[in-house]
Amino acid sequence: MTIRIGIMGYGNLGRGVECAIKQNPDMELAAVFTRRDPKNVRILTEGAKVYHADEAKHMTDKIDVLILCGGSATDLPVQTPEYAKYFTVVDSFDTHARIPEHFAAVDAAAKEAGNVAVISAGWDPGMFSLNRVYANAILPDGKDYTFWGKGVSQGHSDAIRRIDGVKDARQYTVPVESVLERIRNGETPELTTREKHTRECYVVAEEGADLARIEKEIVTMPNYFSDYDTTVHFISEEEMKRDHSTLPHGGFVIRNGKTGWNQENTHVIEYRLKLDSNPEFTSSVIVCCARAAFRMKQEGMSGCKTILDIPPAYLSAKSGEELRKNLL
Ligand code: NDP
Repeated sequence: MTIRIGIMGYGNLGRGVECAIKQNPDMELAAVFTRRDPKNVRILTEGAKVYHADEAKHMTDKIDVLILCGGSATDLPVQTPEYAKYFTVVDSFDTHARIPEHFAAVDAAAKEAGNVAVISAGWDPGMFSLNRVYANAILPDGKDYTFWGKGVSQGHSDAIRRIDGVKDARQYTVPVESVLERIRNGETPELTTREKHTRECYVVAEEGADLARIEKEIVTMPNYFSDYDTTVHFISEEEMKRDHSTLPHGGFVIRNGKTGWNQENTHVIEYRLKLDSNPEFTSSVIVCCARAAFRMKQEGMSGCKTILDIPPAYLSAKSGEELRKNLL
């Protein structure tokens, strides 16, 4: 049976989901929805159509899982509880501090409608969370570390773009290699924010702008840069286009733990992601969560779930038999 997928919102993730569906033969793209004029949104899949977002509610019989590809800041807190009333849904909500309230709102809507809603699918939250939980369960006596990068942080890039005199900006979060090495060797240091990551900024300034002022405004910006060692490079528009037009990301989840009667043995668990495209990878995680959501709904479950509630086999297109034979 083919799972019919709807995409709500056609930005980076929307496009990524469209690409991921192509690699999963048990799925097909049923429709793309946008809040913009559908005439101005061009998709890649032949035969599929773009509809206005308002049409979605009238198409519940044509879609098995609606994937919500809006932004976490303002779109998903509204969209996910709303569409969970009509569809099995998956989102990638990534504001960690607000996940409990998002979960509660989505859970209420999904339970009332008898739908399954998977929230916060992606890599962090998502695959990193899953690996933190596995490692914690296996090594209760230990310490967790998460490092991000090297990768583009869109939130930090946006913050720089808002500074007067800045035309364009890209911000890379970079893990401090020497600290990473210590942890990989089994050490369990207490680390400050500044010790774990550095921030590298590439900035295109407007002509005649005061570069020293821009640099100072960046490195002293509270919440974003003031707690980090930040370097600022001014580059041309051409260099920005040539060298910084993709969205790479990734990182490391590490847990170091002790076992043995006298804690004599150390174990290091490491999960690493090195991603050419953050949105395309995130979308690939979302799509297998959509398969799991579909299966959970078929089994009569309802309510809000996260990747922590999904049995691993539900994510896979392979049968239980195949999984036991080849991947167990
Ligand atoms: P985008 O800004 O590319 O897209 C967000 C929405 O903006 C789209 O759904 C679209 O809605 C609208 N939009 C996109 N392009 C345009 C345009 N040209 N003009 C007007 N509107 C546009 O965000 P991303 O897809 O990159 O990311 C979405 C969210 O995913 C992020 O907010 C982030 O929180 C989350 N995320 C989660 C990760 C995780 O690991 N959990 C990892 C990466 C991202 P519409 O078509 O309706 O206009």
